[in-house]
Amino acid sequence: MGDGDTTPRPKESLAPTSSAVAMCINGEMAMSHVQELVSLAPRHPGTEGHRKTRAYIVNTLKQSTLTPQQLPFTAYTPHPDFPKVEMENISVRFDGQTEKRILITGHFDGKIIEKGTFYGANDSGSSTALLLEMARCLKLHPQKESVQLLFLDGEEAFVKWTDTDSLYGSKHFVAGLLEKNETDNIAAVINVDMIGDRHLQYVTEQNSTGWVFAALRETAEKMGHSDLFSGPAASVGDDHLPFLQVGIPAANLIDFNYGPGWNSNSYWHTEADNMNHVSPDSMMITGQIVLSALPLLMEGPGN
Ligand SMILES: [Zn+2]
Repeated sequence: MGDGDTTPRPKESLAPTSSAVAMCINGEMAMSHVQELVSLAPRHPGTEGHRKTRAYIVNTLKQSTLTPQQLPFTAYTPHPDFPKVEMENISVRFDGQTEKRILITGHFDGKIIEKGTFYGANDSGSSTALLLEMARCLKLHPQKESVQLLFLDGEEAFVKWTDTDSLYGSKHFVAGLLEKNETDNIAAVINVDMIGDRHLQYVTEQNSTGWVFAALRETAEKMGHSDLFSGPAASVGDDHLPFLQVGIPAANLIDFNYGPGWNSNSYWHTEADNMNHVSPDSMMITGQIVLSALPLLMEGPGN
């Protein structure tokens, strides 16, 4: 690549890792958010930790001179101690040049467990931390694509996962989209969950819209991270489902083998979901992939 080299160069292949917004994602910053969230445990809806988690998200966004929108609602659960709880989704918008927007979602609520304290470093510390870090970077590096980051409440079941006892925040948000006739304004939804696992590998999530998941995988391959997409096929109930049900293309990036080694989920929903089992690199790489995929996602199917 010396001076004076006039040989025509091949058209440069897309080099997503060089995008400034992707390179801005800082794993250590994400880890400090996780640490803070873990210190607020327990933080399932109805607790002081939950109230402080919401305040932490809002304050961190405001520190980046962003204007978060708090969207409160009341949820009715089958748990005898929490029949009626206050929840809220938190949204922040980055308006670019595109009319449609890409929605990046992740839940922030903690889980009620029977034994010990649920710290939730990975579930949902990692998704919350990564969205906060994406917010900081999207503010510093405005994109052509319009983006909305959505911190979802009430993903976890209060008693046992059923169609009604789960996904309180995403269902409420999607109902609002339908009411305002806004479902067509969303190009795609990317949900992230449990992406802080030290041994990161996403499941090949079967509920996800094919082209949306493929856009993420293709982007990761170009970045040298195809290994992350070689996980087992599985259908995971998560916050992408309510969007899919109303016809919005959506994908779920989730590592659902959260335990020692590569083939165990034994830390999931236990006290072992703590700082020892999450990694700054896992969150950083996931953030880089998602932000690098924005142009491809905006192109839509058939690219
Ligand atoms: Zn969970």
